[in-house]
Formats: sequence, C-alpha cells, structure tokens
Amino acid sequence: MSDAPTPPPTTTAGTTLLPLVFDEPRGRKKPPRHLADLTADERTALLTEMGLPGFRARQVSTHYFSRLVDDPAEMTDLPATQRDELVKALLPDLMTPLRTLEADKGTTRKTLWKLFDGALVESVLMRYPDRATVCVSSQAGCGMACPFCATGQGGLQRNMSTAEIVEQVVAGARSLARGEVPGGPGRVSNVVFMGMGEPMANYKAVIGAVRRLVDPTPNGLGMSARGITVSTVGLVPRMNQLAEEGIPVTLALSLHAPDDELRNELVPINTRYSVAETVEAAWNYARITKRRVSIEYAMMRGINDQADRADLLGDLLNSYGDWGWVHVNLIPLNPTPGSKWTASDPKDEREFVRRLEAKGIPTTVRDTRGREIDGACGQLAATEA
Ligand code: SAH
Repeated sequence: MSDAPTPPPTTTAGTTLLPLVFDEPRGRKKPPRHLADLTADERTALLTEMGLPGFRARQVSTHYFSRLVDDPAEMTDLPATQRDELVKALLPDLMTPLRTLEADKGTTRKTLWKLFDGALVESVLMRYPDRATVCVSSQAGCGMACPFCATGQGGLQRNMSTAEIVEQVVAGARSLARGEVPGGPGRVSNVVFMGMGEPMANYKAVIGAVRRLVDPTPNGLGMSARGITVSTVGLVPRMNQLAEEGIPVTLALSLHAPDDELRNELVPINTRYSVAETVEAAWNYARITKRRVSIEYAMMRGINDQADRADLLGDLLNSYGDWGWVHVNLIPLNPTPGSKWTASDPKDEREFVRRLEAKGIPTTVRDTRGREIDGACGQLAATEA
C-alpha cells in the first residue's frame, strides 16, 4: 500500500464520483422528540412516566393531527397548569420556514425549512383540481451521489427524524385547511418521498413517518397508503423489506438507464446492485403488494434518451411478465447549475414514449410543475404525470 492519496475514481465521461454514504456522522445531537415520533401507546406511556395523565396524549394528538393546531393557546381543553409541560413534552418546535416560493398561481408552494441544528431541507405542496400532493424530504442532503441531481452533489448531512418528515406533511395540511392555497380549504391526498434524500437509506424513520401518515386520526393523519409514494435509487434489501411491511405504498424506482454501464454512472449505487437485481426487486414488490411499480426515468439529452435504450428498457421490463406490474414515468431533466446534462429534445422524448408503448409499457411524461421554483434544488420536480 502506498501512502499517496488515491485520486477519486472518475467515470468514462470524466465525472468525479463521490463516495456513497449510508451512515450519518456519529455523535450528533438528535432532533427533539415529538409526538409524531411515537405510537399512540408510546405517547401515553411517556406522559405517565412524566407524572402526567396518560389520556392527555390523545387530546394533544387530536390538536396536532386532526385539528392541525400549532398554537398552544388554542388548546383550551388542556388545563392551563399542564399545557406548557404537555406542549414541551410532545410538541417541541422542529423546524422554521425560512422562505416560501410560489408558482402556478399559488397552487405550487415550495418551502425551505431550517431544522433545529441549522440543516436545510425543502418540501413542496402541489394542488391539482382533484388532489393535493406534498413532496417531502427524508434526509438533509443525500449520500447517493447521482451526478445529475443537485442534492446528490452536496453529500449527506444527516437523517431526518420521523417527526421532521411528518411535520412537512402537517404543515402542508395546515396551509390547505386554512385556505391559504387557491381553490378553497382542502386536504392532503398524496405524499411523495421525492424531496431531498434517499428514503431507503433512512428506513426506520421513513417507515415511522409512513405509519403516522396512515394511522387513523387522531393517532395519525388517516391517509390512504395508496396515496403515498416512496421513491428510491434501488437499495435492494430495503425494497424487499418494504414489500413485507404490509403497508401498500406505491414504490417508485429511479432507474434512469436500462444497462449497467450507463446506470453505474448516473446512479452510482448501481455498482452495488445491478440493473437486473434492482428491477427484480421492483417486480418482487409489485408481486407481493399487488401495487403497480413506477419506473422513474429522467430524460437526458444524448445520454439515456436513445431509441435503442427505449427498446432495451421495454424488453427488460417485459421480461418480468406483462401483467401490468409496472409503468414508466419519464421526467424531463431539470438541469442543475453547472451541469453538463440537459433535457431531451421533445422529438426524442416522443419517440421514446412511442417505443415503450409499442412494447405494451404504460408510459407517462411527468408534468413540470413548479419548474421555475425548482432551479435551486433541481430535484423537487412535480410528482405525477
Ligand atoms: N433518492 C430518491 C428520491 C429523491 S429524488 C430517488 O432517487 O428516487 C426524486 C426523483 O427526482 C428521482 O427519480 C431522481 O432521480 C429525480 N431527479 C433528481 N434530480 C433531477 C433532475 N435534475 N431532473 C429531473 N429529475 C431529477
């Protein structure tokens, strides 16, 4: 072994590869514990331990999840003598909005949040005529190092807690309930884990958040699992674990290339889990949960948008059967500052769609909602076609 530092590996295209990071730095201060981190039973147990009446946990949960109250002064059913203590124990401040950007006449709202330790994350609320979606972050930063993704360039800062993830949805629910978004008072129907971070690299907190979203009110938000989408680069063991959780969320796999050579470059984790292993895990998820899997494919001009790659992708997916287990969602690339990649020519995009459909693969092109407020992140693109 020589003492000289090894230069970072580069790809054929000359891109510097960042190391993949799964574990956050040790010895960090944890985010404050919040009722959304706990199950209903754990909340009751905590209060009892503190010498407070356990039944207050349900009242505080009702304020948080059903009434969407954030001001303790409105919690008038809690005795004034206990209110401060209860709020401190179960509802500590988790995050502060630093900035909100609006697009699409106010129906798309992106919020930049500052967490307790100064870490910054983003969430986006998108309201459509028939639904409202919150796109949440699951980590501050990301360790997966995909070179076309803005978040991937900064590395991982830390995992978010369950409550920090849930709070992004509750904040969106409050805005809708209070009529702050054009279209009158409304509710959150969908949550997509497509903000910053790799959800499957923060599995425990993410599953906790999913449980809080689907737990019936007042223990959680009472959402349908069908309205929740977890997007992953393809951490195969975690995908298999998710399939066994018994919560039929939609799985989205960020494939972006049908062949290992190109995917190794675009999604570096592919050097650990090959295209074949990753797509098999997606198919396995569909088989077990009976939920159609979504293959995400960011269209990059001259990189992955060739007609023969469309054919290769179609054949790859069809090799697992044509029982409707999968659909492809093409994402027009949102170029990140300084990146050498740009979005595909619309003509090439149409041909890509045509070839997939000719092979019987249902294909949609994601709308580019909020694109003008996405520039800084490049990742919080709108969710569904
Ligand atoms: N880490 C998870 C979820 C976050 S990103 C994942 O990779 O799936 C959500 C989606 O946005 C992923 O498909 C990701 O590849 C894609 N994405 C990232 N940067 C993008 C960009 N600049 N333009 C278009 N899509 C991008």
